[in-house]
Order: sequence, then C-alpha cells, then structure tokens
Amino acid sequence: MIKVVHSTNELIHILKNQTDIGYVPTMGNLHAGHLSLIERSLSNHQINVVSIYVNPTQFGAGEDFEAYPRTLEQDVKRIEELALKDKELLVFAPHSDQEIYPNGKTLISAENFKGSQVFEGALRPGHFDGMVTVVKRLFEIIHPAKAYFGEKDYQQLLLVKQLVKEFNIPTEVVGLETARSKNGLALSSRNGYLSPKQIEQALVLPKTLQRLRALYLSNNSTLDVQKTINEIKAQDRNFNYLALANADDLSVANEQTANLILLGNYEVSGVKLLDNLKVK
Ligand code: AMP
Repeated sequence: MIKVVHSTNELIHILKNQTDIGYVPTMGNLHAGHLSLIERSLSNHQINVVSIYVNPTQFGAGEDFEAYPRTLEQDVKRIEELALKDKELLVFAPHSDQEIYPNGKTLISAENFKGSQVFEGALRPGHFDGMVTVVKRLFEIIHPAKAYFGEKDYQQLLLVKQLVKEFNIPTEVVGLETARSKNGLALSSRNGYLSPKQIEQALVLPKTLQRLRALYLSNNSTLDVQKTINEIKAQDRNFNYLALANADDLSVANEQTANLILLGNYEVSGVKLLDNLKVK
C-alpha cells in the first residue's frame, strides 16, 4: 500500500507507535539509484517512508534550486511499480517549506564534522550545513530505525553517519552501492540536464576513476596516483576536484592509508557531476 502525505503532522500521526521504520530521503526525480535504496528498505521493513523534498537550505546562491526537476506524479508512479507486496510505503512530499522549517531556517553546522570542509564542502559553502540540518529534521519527524543513503554521495554519507553520532540519534545509517547506466555513468537527477553529446563528455569521470583505480592496483603507489591525478587535472580543466583520499575521513591519502577512495567532481556545460570509486 502506498500513500502520499504532504503534512508533517499527518505523517507523525501515522507513524506513531511504529518502531521499525525504513527511510529513504530524496529530492525526487527518482531514477534506478533511488529505487534501489527504496527496494532495500522495502525488503527490510514493514513500514517505509520515502521523502521527496528539494531542500532550499542545501543550495547556494546561483545553484540549481529553482531549476531542480520536480516530478512528484511521475515519482509516485515509479514507486508504485515496485513490488510493494504487503508492505506499507509513505511518500512524504511536504507541501511547503513550513512543514520542515516551521520556525525559520535555523541551520546546524557541519563544520566540525570530519571531512566536511574538502571537496563538495569547499566547492559549495554552506551546502553540508543545509544537508545535515534537513536530515536531522527529517529524522526527528520520522524516527527511522534505518535510513538508506547512496554511496554515490560518499561525503554526504560520511557526514550523516557523524550527525547521528553527534546527536545520539538512534537511526542506523546504511550506505548502498552506486547505480550506473550501462556506459558506467553514475545515475543522477542532474544527468537530465545533459544532451547525449554532453553525456559522452561526462563519461570522462567514471573512466578516469577506473583508470586511476587500475593504476593503484598495479603497483600500490598512492604517490603514482597523485602524480597522474595532477597531470589529468592540468590537461582537463573540467575537474573541479579529483583526488585519492582516506575513505574513513577524506583526509589526504598516503602509503599507510588503509582504506582508499577516489573522488571526483567533473563539470560539463555548467553541470557538476559527482562520482567516486573505492580502491581498497
Ligand atoms: P538525491 O535525490 O540526489 O538527494 O539522492 C537521494 C539519495 O539517493 C541519496 O542518498 C543519494 O546518495 C542516493 N543516490 C543518488 N544517486 C544514486 C545512484 N546513482 N546510486 C545509488 N544511490 C543514489
């Protein structure tokens, strides 16, 4: 059974007394990546919530808040096509910002969270403050037992894990693998801004990550990878960043780092695309 709810009070009322809620926060314009998170939630919980909310506080001036695709009807149809069986799924689509920010948009700060100042944090000042604020508010409304996030937004996932620790929120944050199209491009609502030709250009990002991963696996040298990254960035100015980092806290990788991840932000005609690849 699926039900669309627009009011926070109604959602709280429906969910009261529920103790095993699975939750997937999204900004809508759902694609197979979102659906994989929703399917995982459905397979683990009787009661599930998917929120669809384009959160204004995580967009900076001049970003795509106004242009961001809002496709609620189509999103609900896509969710209905999933095998819900006897499960309950609530689509929470707040009808106004008031539902989430009844007393104004006071933000909490992600500044002291590990890894918040690099990559997307450096590129989009204030973005993660808005993100952790809305996630905290949504968790306080929904009280999920588990919340499912994509590893595609790896930095976001790391910060949400710190958020629940910091505020003792009893929600388990689960990260799930990035869904890709056949050509390797990570699925993203922002891919819809791109023409077929621009999509071809965008493939530079996953291909570069694959190439760098293969390089690392060939000789286990983080220095070699760093050197190659510098060459790539010098040749292709569309990389807003490209880095090999410590996967635990996004600090700079060195030869002793146990868990390594490659992260990149590649800009195609003004559209900033994110991707990452675990190396070890
Ligand atoms: P968004 O609607 O972009 O805010 O994304 C909502 C959730 O879906 C986040 O946890 C994202 O990390 C996740 N997500 C976005 N794209 C993908 C993808 N290609 N594969 C898996 N999860 C994704």
